Amino acid sequence: MAYSIGTSELEPLSVMGSLIEDAPTKEFQDHTRAMMGRGFVTIVSIYPGLLEYRSRHYGLPVYTLKPPPRGGYSGLRVYDTEEWMNRPDPTDGKPTWLPGPIPARVVANALVQIWARSSLGNKSGFAPGVGIIEGDEPTTAELKALRDMQNKLFNWYILDANGKHLKGEATEINEIHRMAAKEMLDKGAEKLPWYPTVVFTEVKDCIACGKQIETRALVCPECKTDLPARYLQYNLDTAADPMVAAFIAKMNFGKGHSKGKDN
Ligand SMILES: [Zn+2]
Repeated sequence: MAYSIGTSELEPLSVMGSLIEDAPTKEFQDHTRAMMGRGFVTIVSIYPGLLEYRSRHYGLPVYTLKPPPRGGYSGLRVYDTEEWMNRPDPTDGKPTWLPGPIPARVVANALVQIWARSSLGNKSGFAPGVGIIEGDEPTTAELKALRDMQNKLFNWYILDANGKHLKGEATEINEIHRMAAKEMLDKGAEKLPWYPTVVFTEVKDCIACGKQIETRALVCPECKTDLPARYLQYNLDTAADPMVAAFIAKMNFGKGHSKGKDN
């Protein structure tokens, strides 16, 4: 179910692409005594990652908060629900499964805590921009509070990555660091020395010294052999080294091309 977002208390920025989705829930025909009037609580997220939680609540709903559009938010409504609980029967003490009511606010609080942990909020002492709102739609103040909280978390991640980069621990920089940089700096993130995803470098064996070198190398950094020159000198088959093959092809094309031009 989509709700139109356009009340006067919202800034234009937060209007874009905002959706509030219902949690997948079912009606409670079978357990009317556990019903509490279907109260609900709305959770809003400005966190740019996917948040999911598979619950054991009635109907086994998967609670999901999708990444919001940049500058917007996504929302989730959670309802009063119930969970099957194992309780001893008061007469004979045998285990009995009974539905136990769970108010929507308890569900919502648990989800916010779980998601704060799963997105590594705990490590920094800060939390992602996910929280319970009082009404059906977030107010400007509620969105600002989420933004302030998340900015602290993301700034922490950017500084953490800077530190790791300086200490030569680049392999410990992960997608959350990059997400934080992208969210806080947008295009500027690419100016961070650690931001570009590390490209896995393939290796080949040097035809002169046999050492493992980068596939794209044209000169061996170990023995300093000029690889294309070596291939040409002994008329070696370049099929084993596409980088060298491409280089020689380009060289020959360059000669032919300039010749043609001169004529
Ligand atoms: Zn070599």
